[in-house]
Amino acid sequence: MARYTGPSCRLCRREGKKLFLKGDRCMSDKCAVVKREGAPGQHGVSRKQVKEYGRQLREKQTTKRYYGVQERQFKKYYELAEKKPGITGENLLTTLEARLDNVVYRMGMASSHKEARQLVLHAHFRVNGKKVNIPSYIVKPGDVISLKEGSRDSAKIKELIERMQTAVIPKWLEVDKENVKAKVVSAPAREDIDFEFNEQLIVELYSK
Ligand code: SF4
Repeated sequence: MARYTGPSCRLCRREGKKLFLKGDRCMSDKCAVVKREGAPGQHGVSRKQVKEYGRQLREKQTTKRYYGVQERQFKKYYELAEKKPGITGENLLTTLEARLDNVVYRMGMASSHKEARQLVLHAHFRVNGKKVNIPSYIVKPGDVISLKEGSRDSAKIKELIERMQTAVIPKWLEVDKENVKAKVVSAPAREDIDFEFNEQLIVELYSK
């Protein structure tokens, strides 16, 4: 399935919650969720009509859209999560959290997952000194993510470095803000993810 290129706010309106897809706008009162715009479509969706399957589906869509992952890839993450020891739903979220584009986002170097994905695709980052331009690359404890030599010259990157200085960093990352470097000190844990997910609903959906 092709990557969604329509308006980002439409996705949040569809899920009825903020997915933080548009950077600084998401924190402003221009946000469509803050303005309480209803679900897209002529009449929106009656929340009362959303049944069990609907709730499970919506949770899967929310999670997928939040991380900017496509359907097929999301399913693969789920299959991987099932094979890992531990709780499948938690395994799913912590794997998504360990994606390289998410690390760039958590470092504060991007205002949205979409922007982080673009930065990775344009090869602005290195993992352990090596070029990695794959947003879905999964980092592991000990990995060091750094800005490419020369990328600092770009006006856009300078602006992002400025933004990074005030970012709140999750405890599984150790960030050297001056040198734009992040070390993965541990694998992300479920409690490190501050977005409200109900991953059990996704497990129920895929277990049908
Ligand atoms: Fe979603 Fe951000 Fe648009 Fe608000 S401004 S609806 S959080 S993408």
